Parts: sequence; structure tokens; C-alpha cells
Amino acid sequence: MIEKRDFYINGQWVSPIDGRDHNVIDPSTEDACAVISLGGQADADAAVAAAKAALPSWMATPVEERIAKVETLLEIYESRSDELAEAMSLEMGAPLDMSRGSQAGAGSWHLRNFIAAAKEFPFEHPLNDASPNDRIIHEAVGVAALITPWNWPMNQVTLKVGAAAIAGCTMVLKPSEESPLNAIVFAEMMDQAGFPAGVFNLVNGDGVGVGSRLSAHPDVDMVSFTGSTRAGTAISKAAADTLKRVHLELGGKGANLIFDDADDNAVRRGVLHMMQNTGQSCNAPSRMLVQRGIYDKVVEEAAEVAKGVTVGPASESGSHIGPVVNELQWTKIQALIEKGIDEGARLVAGGPGRPDGLNKGFYVRPSVFADVNNQMTIAREEIFGPVLSILPFDTEEDAVEIANDTPYGLTNYVQTQDVTRANRLARVLRSGMVEMNGKSRSAGSPFGGMKQSGNGREGGTWGIEDFLEVKSVGGWTPE
Ligand code: NAD
Repeated sequence: MIEKRDFYINGQWVSPIDGRDHNVIDPSTEDACAVISLGGQADADAAVAAAKAALPSWMATPVEERIAKVETLLEIYESRSDELAEAMSLEMGAPLDMSRGSQAGAGSWHLRNFIAAAKEFPFEHPLNDASPNDRIIHEAVGVAALITPWNWPMNQVTLKVGAAAIAGCTMVLKPSEESPLNAIVFAEMMDQAGFPAGVFNLVNGDGVGVGSRLSAHPDVDMVSFTGSTRAGTAISKAAADTLKRVHLELGGKGANLIFDDADDNAVRRGVLHMMQNTGQSCNAPSRMLVQRGIYDKVVEEAAEVAKGVTVGPASESGSHIGPVVNELQWTKIQALIEKGIDEGARLVAGGPGRPDGLNKGFYVRPSVFADVNNQMTIAREEIFGPVLSILPFDTEEDAVEIANDTPYGLTNYVQTQDVTRANRLARVLRSGMVEMNGKSRSAGSPFGGMKQSGNGREGGTWGIEDFLEVKSVGGWTPE
């Protein structure tokens, strides 16, 4: 059994002050695979104190040097990326090939994009050509608490740490207690990269213990949080007394609008996107909205595609999907599948229970519901499992109304060959991101949501800006 009880504070691995043991469960087997410590208030306080002490000198470090440290980190990250992939597979159930590819790969992608964006970013500049004595200075927000989820662990950690480090913030990372092992490997990489003591600190813990302390801490200037809308609300309330900046990346209930002129691969692509990472993605296209004329054909095809998705242990190589992360999620997904049946949706693939032959492990049958209406629970709540809902629509206006009728607003998807319609929809869909015809967004594009999907933007220039204050100086003398 792996034992990783220490925290990384002020450039050293230290024993917890206020820790208690916590078993990390391998979702493929339901067995404990590691022991970590969940810290308490004293551990959070020690990490914040280290970050606070390191702030003046890190902020004053020339940005070129900060970028150079992130470049060193990227080299180390790439050389040790297999370790990250193995840790993620073990603790959150992403199958090895996927873990090596998109899970670990997302981290190097983000770090590379931050380095490129930072080299172009004007950290200091005159207000405009007519005002040489007005200076705009973009400087670090200060001490940042970074609270991350388990579903795309390295993706989230690098999006926050890379941007914060370049911006000149010092930080305390609290990864999800469900997936702490990859973050521990990442902390070793930060140490190896030679970031000055206190710039980066890692404390493991749960939301109630370390998470809420960081959110309320008077010496934390900003919380950057990715996770559920429920925790985002709790963090916002805890942060309110100190009026710290709160950056939120929350859940989603994305619509995928399939028009009758969609390309031949649109349905297959939409189903597989839903099933990717076992449905545990905030931007999953979980509501497939289908134009009435092609509805029956699409339902049939979607069911076939879902039936072809195989499920298996994360330790095996292949293109199957793994288990969901834990028993709580498994039970919640089962209850939502039952709710879909009870509320009158038509199950056309999958259903309750485990897939055949998998009696242990948090495995879920890839499931598709047809004849869903937008008031049903499965259309409103984020299921966070491999469960797709299909809803019919008649006109473009109906589709927009259904797509936007949700508390969330993260990513919507459009499948049509009519470019005028596609562009029109890009403007009216209420979400931070819209993706057309299977084209994902390019390097450095901002990731984030509207409404209850959050308020932040991560990645590239926008991601760095989220960790910066804008200072306006009058009477500046150009030297
Ligand atoms: P979660 O909210 O349960 O936990 C996320 C993190 O917050 C963990 O580190 C947890 O310990 C911590 N936390 C929980 N309660 C807290 C509290 N009261 N105060 C402070 N910290 C607290 O979410 P999860 O189950 O780990 O992740 C799944 C959720 O994350 C989904 O809703 C998903 O949509 C969302 N997500 C969003 C994005 C995005 O960018 N929009 C990306 C990935 C995941």
C-alpha cells in the first residue's frame, strides 16, 4: 500500500500538524490503494503563512524568470508524465491509455499555452499613446488557494498552478481527497523545478476541513475553485467575509443540437463524447437535442453506439471506459437512472446495475434515454456518469429555448452544415463555450462558464489575467 502522509509546505515535505489517515480507494477494485492524511486548520494555516511570506519576493521576480521556472516545470512534467498517468488511473479510474493521453497530456498542453501567452502579455504598458504618464501595471492578486476536483485532475491543477506562478501569485493547492496521488507527484515536480520555498504549497484535506479554512482565511487573497456548484456556493459564502476574489469553474448540462443536415458522424461523435471519461466531464454533451424529422433514426443510432462502448478496469490498456470514481457517485448515478425510468423516459441502452461480468468496482452501464423532456430530473441535474438524454425539437427557436433552459451554461454543441445557422446559434446559446461540428477550441482559448457554471476563464491569456490585479498609475515618468 502506498503511504503518502506528508504535505509540501515552504519547500519541504512535512508531517501534518492536525492530520488523520484517509484511504484512497481504487474504483476499479473497490480496494484501498493508498493512505494519505487529511489535514486540518493548522495545516492550512501553515501553508498560507508560507505562501504569504514568499509573496513579496516572487511578485518582484522578473516575469521572464517566472516563465523560465514554468518552462523547467514543463520539461520535468513531460519526463515524468507516465507517473502522473499511473496515479490518475489508480485513484480515479481513467483507463491507462486515456490517462497517458488526454489526462496527463492536458497538463503539458496548458503549461505550454501559458508560456506562449505570457511571452506576449503586456504586464506593464502606457494607458494609451496620448497618455505616456499613465501606466497600467498588471500585478499578482497575492496568495491564491487552488481547490481542484478529481475528474480531470492534472488538467485542473496545471490550469491553476501554471497561471498563478506566471502571474506572480504564491499558492496553496488542495487537490481532491479522491485523487491526491497525482498532485503529490506534481508537488515533487514543483520542488524539482526549483520554485523558491513557499511559492507552491500542497495540503491534502477534505472540503470541510482544509477547503473551507482556505476559503475563509484572511491571508488568502483569491480562491480559484473547480468542482461542483454546491461546493462553489459554499466557498463563495465562506469567502464573503474577507471579500476575496473567487474564481469558479463549476458543473454543466451541455446541449448538443443535432439538425437534420448534420454530418454523418455527428451522432456517433456526440455519444462517444458523452461517454468519454465515463461521463465525468463538466463539459459533457449530456442533452442531445434532435430535430424531429431525424429523431427515430438518431435514437436508434445513439443506442447502437452506446451498446458498443466497452467498460473495464483502468489498469487495462484499450479504448474502453473505466469505473466512476467512487461508491457515492455510483449510487447517485444508479438513482438517477431509476428516476429517468420512473419519470417516463424511454431507456434504449444500458440501465441500472453493473455491466455483465463486472461484479466489483464502480462500473456503470453506458446508458441512453430517449423521449426525455427538459423538465425531467435527468435533463436538469448533472449526472456525472455515462448517461445520455435525447430530447426532440421542431424548430431552431425551440432548440435554443430548450438548450438555454438550464441553470448551467458551460458548453453547448451544434451540428449543422448551414454555416449561417451555426453562427447565429453561437451568439444566442447562453454558455461560455460553443463548439460546432466536432471542432474543439484552439490552444490558448478561454475555458469557463456562465450562470451556475461559474464566472472564471482558464487557459492562455485569460487564465493568467484571472490571477492579476490591474493597477492604474498616474504621474508615471517614462525612464
Ligand atoms: P466537489 O465540489 O465535491 O469537490 C471539488 C473540490 O472542492 C475538492 O477538492 C473538495 O475537497 C473541495 N470541496 C468540497 N466542498 C468544499 C467546501 N465546502 N469548501 C471548500 N472546498 C470544498 O466536486 P468533485 O465531485 O470533486 O468534482 C466534480 C464536479 O466538478 C462536477 O460538478 C464537475 O462538473 C465540476 N467540474 C467543473 C469543471 C469546470 O471547469 N467547469 C471542470 C471539472 C469539473
